[in-house]
Amino acid sequence: MLGIGFNEATAQECEGQSLITDLKLCDDVGFDFIEITYDCMWEYLQAGHTLDELAAWFTKHHLKPWVYNALRFFNMRDEEGRRELEREIDFIIKIADAIGMRIVVITPSNDVFDEDGNPYSIEEIRDEAVESMRFLADKIKPYGIKLALEPIGLPNCSINQYGTAYEIVEKVDRANVGLALDTFHFHAMDSHWEDLESADVSKLWVLHVNDSENLPIGQLKDCHRLWPGEGILDLKRTMEILKEKDFCGVCSIEVFRPEYYELSHEDNIRIAYDKTVSVLKKYFS
Ligand code: ZN
Repeated sequence: MLGIGFNEATAQECEGQSLITDLKLCDDVGFDFIEITYDCMWEYLQAGHTLDELAAWFTKHHLKPWVYNALRFFNMRDEEGRRELEREIDFIIKIADAIGMRIVVITPSNDVFDEDGNPYSIEEIRDEAVESMRFLADKIKPYGIKLALEPIGLPNCSINQYGTAYEIVEKVDRANVGLALDTFHFHAMDSHWEDLESADVSKLWVLHVNDSENLPIGQLKDCHRLWPGEGILDLKRTMEILKEKDFCGVCSIEVFRPEYYELSHEDNIRIAYDKTVSVLKKYFS
């Protein structure tokens, strides 16, 4: 494992949160990496800060940028949607290139239906996703940036199991296309352990770690996430598989729990760090 990261979503509604305060608090508490969210990045630039300023901050601190989170709804877009995607990926390239951020998490579209209102088959979704990802992969290639596809464990998400995402990434077959695995999403749509056990994890660049309340499959939403170690996820099994396979990505805490947003910003980040370390230290040095 490369190190421990903080996904800014974990504190996104804490009072006083911003990219600048996240950077300082994460660096102080000991995180190695930060996953910058679209909202925080946008607010940072709107407030008049520059990417050069951000790049300079990273050169002076231990904390480094890892992931941009996220290019959302990358697949099954109409023509206008594809133009929007292009504008967004151009914006992301500028950020990544300026601050040395190497990975862009991409997430799938929800509620995709054909013109008669029928759901697409997994094969149709897979084939279209392969094309869309190849287009994005070619666009970012000159900048040395990578795409990580994150399956989202919602019933209406077009790519909602780890095995489907893995197959798509294999078919895309580009050196700069890999995966993000989220322990909550893996459980939420009942992804198959065999798919992880048989996976080549050299293209798994991001692990989102968290935990979950015990609700029926299909009922879980982001607000049901818990700190790692406080719910029913079999994190031991995930970590043992990844350790055995020499996982070499970043393990980032990503929680979206309303009651954690009521904590002070400092407490949110300190607790996030402590909870992540207490789970990971059993498996990784
Ligand atoms: Zn995630």
